[in-house]
Amino acid sequence: MSTPNCRTCGACCVEQVILLGAGDKVPILMSSDGMFMNKQGGRCIALTGRVGIDPCCSIYPNRPKICQVLPAGSQQCLMIRESCGLGTSNAVEHRS
Ligand code: SF4
Ligand code: SF4
Repeated sequence: MSTPNCRTCGACCVEQVILLGAGDKVPILMSSDGMFMNKQGGRCIALTGRVGIDPCCSIYPNRPKICQVLPAGSQQCLMIRESCGLGTSNAVEHRS
């Protein structure tokens, strides 16, 4: 089984509640009371592109720490992908 590729996934940005922590610096309109990232249409408001194809974080250099620490291919990652309707390996396989 190949390790999922975050560049063609983005499931984290849909399935998770993105809690903000001390030191996170995201644009004020993107967060509620500085506690977590807002969602729009069921996705993190900072997410652009298509989940499972070409997702992109519009604040990537300043993305919250919680977005930086989940290892691709970990058990949690695979569970998130399953919840999002993606498989447990590289999302590229699901393009066709
Ligand atoms: S669910 Fe896994 S593969 Fe997908 S973006 Fe998150 S860490 Fe990367
Ligand atoms: S801040 Fe960026 S990496 Fe984090 S959930 Fe939102 S779109 Fe995804």
